[in-house]
Amino acid sequence: MKIGTAGAIASGLGFDLRPAYAQSRELKIARTTETRSTCPYCSVSCGVIIHTLGDKAKNVTPQVVHVEGDPDQPINRGTLCPKGSSLQQDIMNERRLLKPQVRRPGSDRWEDIPWDTAIDEIARLMKKTRDETFIEKDSKGRVVNRCEGFAWSGGCTDTNEFNYLVVKTMRGLGAVYLENQARV
Ligand code: SF4
Repeated sequence: MKIGTAGAIASGLGFDLRPAYAQSRELKIARTTETRSTCPYCSVSCGVIIHTLGDKAKNVTPQVVHVEGDPDQPINRGTLCPKGSSLQQDIMNERRLLKPQVRRPGSDRWEDIPWDTAIDEIARLMKKTRDETFIEKDSKGRVVNRCEGFAWSGGCTDTNEFNYLVVKTMRGLGAVYLENQARV
């Protein structure tokens, strides 16, 4: 319920509920750690503040108790759409993927693999694909030096600096197809 609504109720009941609403919000985020991040859902890339409860002791599992819009972020200035407002449920969801997964050719299931294995496999497959599909000249004999065998797709939380390195790396490998969620 918005403060404006509370204000309307307040005048009807004869007392002001706004301090109580402000107090309940303070209680919710009391003793939390603030982490600034970016909503991952769409290309708007709204800034969020994640409130985490937990004293960082080894036997304590941190709990994200609240996510709100970052008022200092010029993109959204503290606002969030309903998807961004539900981020806490996404972060704390027991079905959230926390490890790389792979589905082997012919398999009907995904399997968890360690990060090092995933990076090694991606590097090996990119090398193999590039060796097999690299095109030095087109049908008219013009030098093109391109690789149409793999593509790159980035996410909306990728920074400018990260994307700069992606373009440099992927173009250096000859990749033609570069896409980003920010364009979806
Ligand atoms: S809060 Fe909504 S509009 Fe903003 S990035 Fe997330 S999904 Fe997009």
